[in-house]
Amino acid sequence: MNTQISAVADQHDIVGHYINGADVPDRERLLPVSNPATGEDVRQVAMASTKTVGEAVAAAQAAFPAWRDTPPVKRAQIMFRYKQLLEQNADAIVARITEEHGKVLNDAMGEFGRGVEVVEYACGAPELLKGEHSKNAGPAIDSWSEFQPLGVVAGITPFNFPAMVPMWMYPMAIVCGNTFILKPSEKDPGAAIFLAQLFSEAGLPDGVFNVVNGDKEAVDALLHDQRVVALSFVGSTPIAEYIYQTGTANGKRVQALGGAKNHAVVMPDADIDNAVSAIMGAAYGSCGERCMAISAVVCVGNDTANDVVGKLQAQIGDLKIGDGTDNANDMGPLVTAEQLQKVRSYVDLGIEEGAELVADGRGLQVAGRENGYFLGACLFDQVKPSMRIYNEEIFGPVLCVLRAGSQEEAMQLIDAHEFGNGTCIFTRDGEAARYFTDNIKVGMVGVNVALPVPVSAHSFGGWKRSLFGDLYAYGPDSVRFYTRRKTITQRWPSGGVRETAQFSFPSSS
Ligand code: NAD
Repeated sequence: MNTQISAVADQHDIVGHYINGADVPDRERLLPVSNPATGEDVRQVAMASTKTVGEAVAAAQAAFPAWRDTPPVKRAQIMFRYKQLLEQNADAIVARITEEHGKVLNDAMGEFGRGVEVVEYACGAPELLKGEHSKNAGPAIDSWSEFQPLGVVAGITPFNFPAMVPMWMYPMAIVCGNTFILKPSEKDPGAAIFLAQLFSEAGLPDGVFNVVNGDKEAVDALLHDQRVVALSFVGSTPIAEYIYQTGTANGKRVQALGGAKNHAVVMPDADIDNAVSAIMGAAYGSCGERCMAISAVVCVGNDTANDVVGKLQAQIGDLKIGDGTDNANDMGPLVTAEQLQKVRSYVDLGIEEGAELVADGRGLQVAGRENGYFLGACLFDQVKPSMRIYNEEIFGPVLCVLRAGSQEEAMQLIDAHEFGNGTCIFTRDGEAARYFTDNIKVGMVGVNVALPVPVSAHSFGGWKRSLFGDLYAYGPDSVRFYTRRKTITQRWPSGGVRETAQFSFPSSS
């Protein structure tokens, strides 16, 4: 482990801002950061003022010209060193994620690993940025397209993946030649400062990657600063829509990924045992606080539903729930007391709405962690499409089972839903699976895969109100998002030939 980095990050009880390669002492407004397993405050996080955000933007703007002109191969070499440092410091970063978010260490390591895969993809910058060339596009004319960086870009990220979601953004933005300002979630801000310090240690010039912690004030400062030319956002749908509308109204390029209600369809011919195991992990892993979590299961046929509900109930009884520092646990706490209250109130609502609560996690007590924000797994059967527990994103360990008479009916339910992030089908029938992947109105689709999170060489994004904007996060779309195409047409006529004016539109013949 790299001791220097952990020493820098641990010497403060306050998570501050990392601007131009240094800590910036804006400490006027502080919020507590709690350990959700114990309910105790572990440190504080500073809320950046508009002035501090302005300083970060100025630093990023000053660093841009030299970084833009740094050859992609040199940028990639820094990325390679960064990847090594990330791996050497993985334990410290993952421990910080678990301490502030609550997820189990192995799960935190999983998210961190997926983030590092984006850094690995970014190491391919010379290949990704090499552009397109046409020799003899016309007589003695060559034409090429190149992908130029945009300038100062910003990323605003949610609490549920404090390392991975930032890493969906800044490695690709930076390797494409931009400078970056990250505004992480105020609920679990600790990991981001590690990520920034390690990048400096890998040789990234000061000002290329900056972190400002904060809330709406910092976000609004980024949205209204004309020097910020593009914004990536991941979070809930109402805020995503606000960011998209305000950012684009201010002339910025914006991608804003929002909330989700991800359905799993279980067909009568599926391997039900395997489907149930996959759904258990996807519904209750990370306490249901994943944007790709399965939160609705649509069973085709009553027999399928009865079988699935019975097997889910049995597995729920075996779940181990406790402090995320113990890898023997399957599930940790929810992130905050407010989130616990919100999710519990959805369970109460489901009962009022007439759904059948077949597993009730509300009475859970974790010995020695009585003040933690724990909620046991909850399972509703007989959920109807009109219910709020089905229509709204709960973002906790609450799974809704719906019953459909046919695959078509199951797909109509999914297509009618406001969100279109992820979905999956469990079946042994290739034709049913192909029909599903061809026609379902969702951005990321699994076949016998409950969490179809695209690998780093693909891109991540949903449909409908799960994404505002056109381009997905990371992968090939991120090269397009973080660059601007320029097409150059060049001619070097042979010397001595006299040319006359041409008044017809130029053609290639
Ligand atoms: P959130 O929308 O509350 O916060 C996200 C970010 O926006 C944070 O940095 C926060 O500080 C900022 N923010 C919050 N309120 C704001 C406001 N009024 N004005 C400006 N900025 C504001 O989301 P969250 O609770 O941190 O994360 C959970 C949500 O994120 C869920 O809805 C989940 O589905 C979604 N999510 C989506 C994806 C995806 O890829 N689609 C991935 C992860 C999480």
